[in-house]
Amino acid sequence: MDLSIIIPLLNEEESLPELSAWIERVLTENDLSYEVIFIDDGSTDNSWNVIENISQKNNCFKGIKFQRNYGKSAALNEGFKAAKGDVVITMDADLQDSPDEIPELRKMIIKGGFDIVSGWKKKRYDNTLTKNIPSKIFNAAARLSSGIKLHDFNCGLKAYKRKVVKSIEVFGEMHRYIPVIAKGAGFKKIGEKVVEHRARKYGVTKFGWERFVNGFLDLFTISFVNKFGKRPMHFFGFWGTVFFLIGLASVIYLIVSKFIYTDFSLTNKPAFYIALTAILGGMQLFLSGFVAELVARNAAERNVYLIEDRIGLS
Ligand code: UDP
Ligand code: MG
Repeated sequence: MDLSIIIPLLNEEESLPELSAWIERVLTENDLSYEVIFIDDGSTDNSWNVIENISQKNNCFKGIKFQRNYGKSAALNEGFKAAKGDVVITMDADLQDSPDEIPELRKMIIKGGFDIVSGWKKKRYDNTLTKNIPSKIFNAAARLSSGIKLHDFNCGLKAYKRKVVKSIEVFGEMHRYIPVIAKGAGFKKIGEKVVEHRARKYGVTKFGWERFVNGFLDLFTISFVNKFGKRPMHFFGFWGTVFFLIGLASVIYLIVSKFIYTDFSLTNKPAFYIALTAILGGMQLFLSGFVAELVARNAAERNVYLIEDRIGLS
C-alpha cells in the first residue's frame, strides 16, 4: 500500500464528508493505493456515524473510536500503530490542511529520501494574537533546543516513512514535537514543505490557552528524556554538584564576613528568605517533575487507550 492517511478528530462532523471526498479524488487521480484511518478522539457529535457512512461507500476509509477524549497525541499514536502504508501522512480533520499537498509530500519521502517532511503553514489563517505569535516563539524555542531547522513544528500535515512512525511513541501533548522525538530515535533527514493553509470552515478550535503552557513543558521533557532519559544522574549529579558548590562558597563567605564585620546582618532582610525559599522550592518542583516523568515513562499503561469500536481494522 502506498499511503496511510491518519486523521485525528474531535467533533468534526461537518468537515468529514467534504474532507474524505477530496482525499479520495486526489488519491484516485494520482493512482495511489491508500487507507485513511480516522481516529475519533471521543467526539460527542455525530462524527462516528459519519465515518461509518463514509467507510460503507469506500472501504479504504477506516476508523478507530476512543471511548473518551484522550487528546491528539493519543489519537496519532493509535493511528501510527495501525498504519500499513509505505508512507504515512497525518493531517487535521478540519479542512485547514489541503489534501492536494499529499502527492508532493509523498514524493519528497520516496524520491527525496526524507524520513519526515513537515508542512509549513507559511501563510497562516488563524488568529494572530492567540495562535500566530505564540507559535513563532514556540518554534524558535524548539529549533534552539533540538537543532532541527523547521519553521512549523506543530503543523498537523506531515509525511513519514513507515519506519519512523513504527519507531516512535507519542503521548501527553507531544504531537507538537514529533520531529524532535523522531530525531531522538535516529531519524535525521527532516525536511519541510510550504503547504497551503486554510481558514477553519466548520466548528471551533479544540485547543485553548493551555496549549502554551503544556507545549513548553513537553518541550523540556522531550529534550530532557532524549538526552538524559537513560542516564539521569549525569544531569542531576552535575547540577546538584554545581549548586552544592555555590552553596558551600556562600556559606564560607557568610562565615568569613561574620568574623570580619561585626555589624554584618544579611539575614535581617526579608528578601533573603524569600529568595532562598523560592529558589529551593522551584528547584525541587522542577526536579520532581523530571523524576515523575521518568517514572511515568516506565508505566506499563502509558499508552493504552480504551477503544469502543473499529471499522476496517482488526
Ligand atoms: N483533535 C483531536 N483531539 C483533541 C483535540 C483536537 O483529535 O483532543 C483534532 C481536531 O479535531 C483536529 C486536529 O486535532 O482534527 C487539530 O485540532 P484544531 O484544528 O482544533 O487545532 P488548531 O488548528 O486550532 O491548532
Ligand atoms: Mg485546525
